[in-house]
Amino acid sequence: MNYVSTRGGTKKYSASEAVIRGLADDGGLFVPEYIPSLDIPVSMLAGMSYKETAYEVMKLFFTDYSEEELKRCIDNAYDSKFDTGVIAPVVKRGDSFYLELFHGRTIAFKDMALSILPHLLTCALHKNNIKDKVLIMTATSGDTGKAALEAFADIEGTKIIVFYPKGGVSRIQERQMVTQKGSNTKVVGVTGNFDDCQSAVKRMFSDPALGEELAARGYRFSSANSINIGRLIPQIVYYVYSYAQMVDRGYIQENDKLNFTVPTGNFGNILAAFYARQMGIPIGKLICASNVNKVLYDFFQTGTYDKNRDFILTSSPSMDILISSNLERLIYHSLGDDAAANAALMNDLAQKGSYTVAGTSGKYLDVFEGIYATEEQVSDTIRSVYESCGYVIDTHTAVAAYADGIYRQKDDTASVIVSTASPYKFMSSVLGAIDAGLVSDDDFAMAEELSKLSKVPVPAAVTKLKDAAILHDTVCTVEGMKEQVRGFI
Ligand SMILES: *Cc1c(COP(=O)(O)O)cnc(C)c1O
Repeated sequence: MNYVSTRGGTKKYSASEAVIRGLADDGGLFVPEYIPSLDIPVSMLAGMSYKETAYEVMKLFFTDYSEEELKRCIDNAYDSKFDTGVIAPVVKRGDSFYLELFHGRTIAFKDMALSILPHLLTCALHKNNIKDKVLIMTATSGDTGKAALEAFADIEGTKIIVFYPKGGVSRIQERQMVTQKGSNTKVVGVTGNFDDCQSAVKRMFSDPALGEELAARGYRFSSANSINIGRLIPQIVYYVYSYAQMVDRGYIQENDKLNFTVPTGNFGNILAAFYARQMGIPIGKLICASNVNKVLYDFFQTGTYDKNRDFILTSSPSMDILISSNLERLIYHSLGDDAAANAALMNDLAQKGSYTVAGTSGKYLDVFEGIYATEEQVSDTIRSVYESCGYVIDTHTAVAAYADGIYRQKDDTASVIVSTASPYKFMSSVLGAIDAGLVSDDDFAMAEELSKLSKVPVPAAVTKLKDAAILHDTVCTVEGMKEQVRGFI
């Protein structure tokens, strides 16, 4: 299996090279030359553990890793870092199914892929005889940052610098990051929004002078962002796994269609669901749930992607995004893997801030249904789910739960709501929706209240923050980010 850029060039890369590079030299994203079919039936998958399923999926994409190497990566990733041996449980609450992806170290779904990325990466360096150290540089809207920091902290041969929008992440998210341990870690707040941070990081990745400076010090850049195939491919696993769980528990029959409703920001999670579908899992519709930054909703309605609009801070900050980077991969596939046509659209995006996929050329786009939720609908959903079945969901999951409810009015196919964060990560918004009297400035008091309401113990990820020292307090402007990178290496 080789990987090519969504923007052309004829050069092919092995999986391990694509993991190391993150982004293609022409600014495009790496895509597999074809999407492989699963080579075992769902009836067999239904009896497998998460690790076994992970191997069955990943061996088809990471073909230059040996069986032993890939299994070692998987073993190191999906272990007791997760608070359940199931790793990604599907739970039924009321008449809805939720795929809980928040049982990892930082209680949000990015742990699913970031737990394995450092292992895939260090193994890739070794395989390619690269002696350089790796500088992971990432922009985060809250969850990626902490998950990447936890994943790379004290990993030999790596350093990690994380930029987050100051004021654009929740209090718990910020506290999680600024208390990060590990001598190879650095966390910087930026006076700008997430898109500003992400654009600046992208510019630095393709800044030749900065690249040379790094090389002179024995470093090379890599990205932990969801554009790396080392993030994308591990995310396919839980779609395959949850489909098999639904069959195993008798909620659906083998070959029945199943829909997934995914709270979407950068389009990585839902794209993994699309790949699972293309691999042969009988997925019907993918409901792309947005908050009021509804650039994807508008795209699926009209065929025009237009980021020229106000950026709105919401209670689901990990979805406050105007440029959904991974959508580029879907566009490329929808154009029949035509890199030149995709590059033209991405050029429009860079020049005008918008592009249009003309009518019939958009193959696959009808697999997706865009639905968005207003802030009021998010908070009403949190309250009504709690009142109807005692289950407490976070704001991101609530965006999806709302969209799922709307979509099910016209399609009775079984569906799974993808639950991307623990409610303990967004306590003021969650408690505010259920009982405003419980909101306070004291996160740990709120955690106790939430525990009483939900009957779920406060996760260790929250309790251990209580006495953790603040180890990072740097704040800079967007223009100052490059200097921070220089200083760090
Ligand atoms: C990152 C994130 C999302 C959005 O996922 P994408 O892959 O960027 O679309 C949704 N919910 C939470 C809690 C997240 O951390």
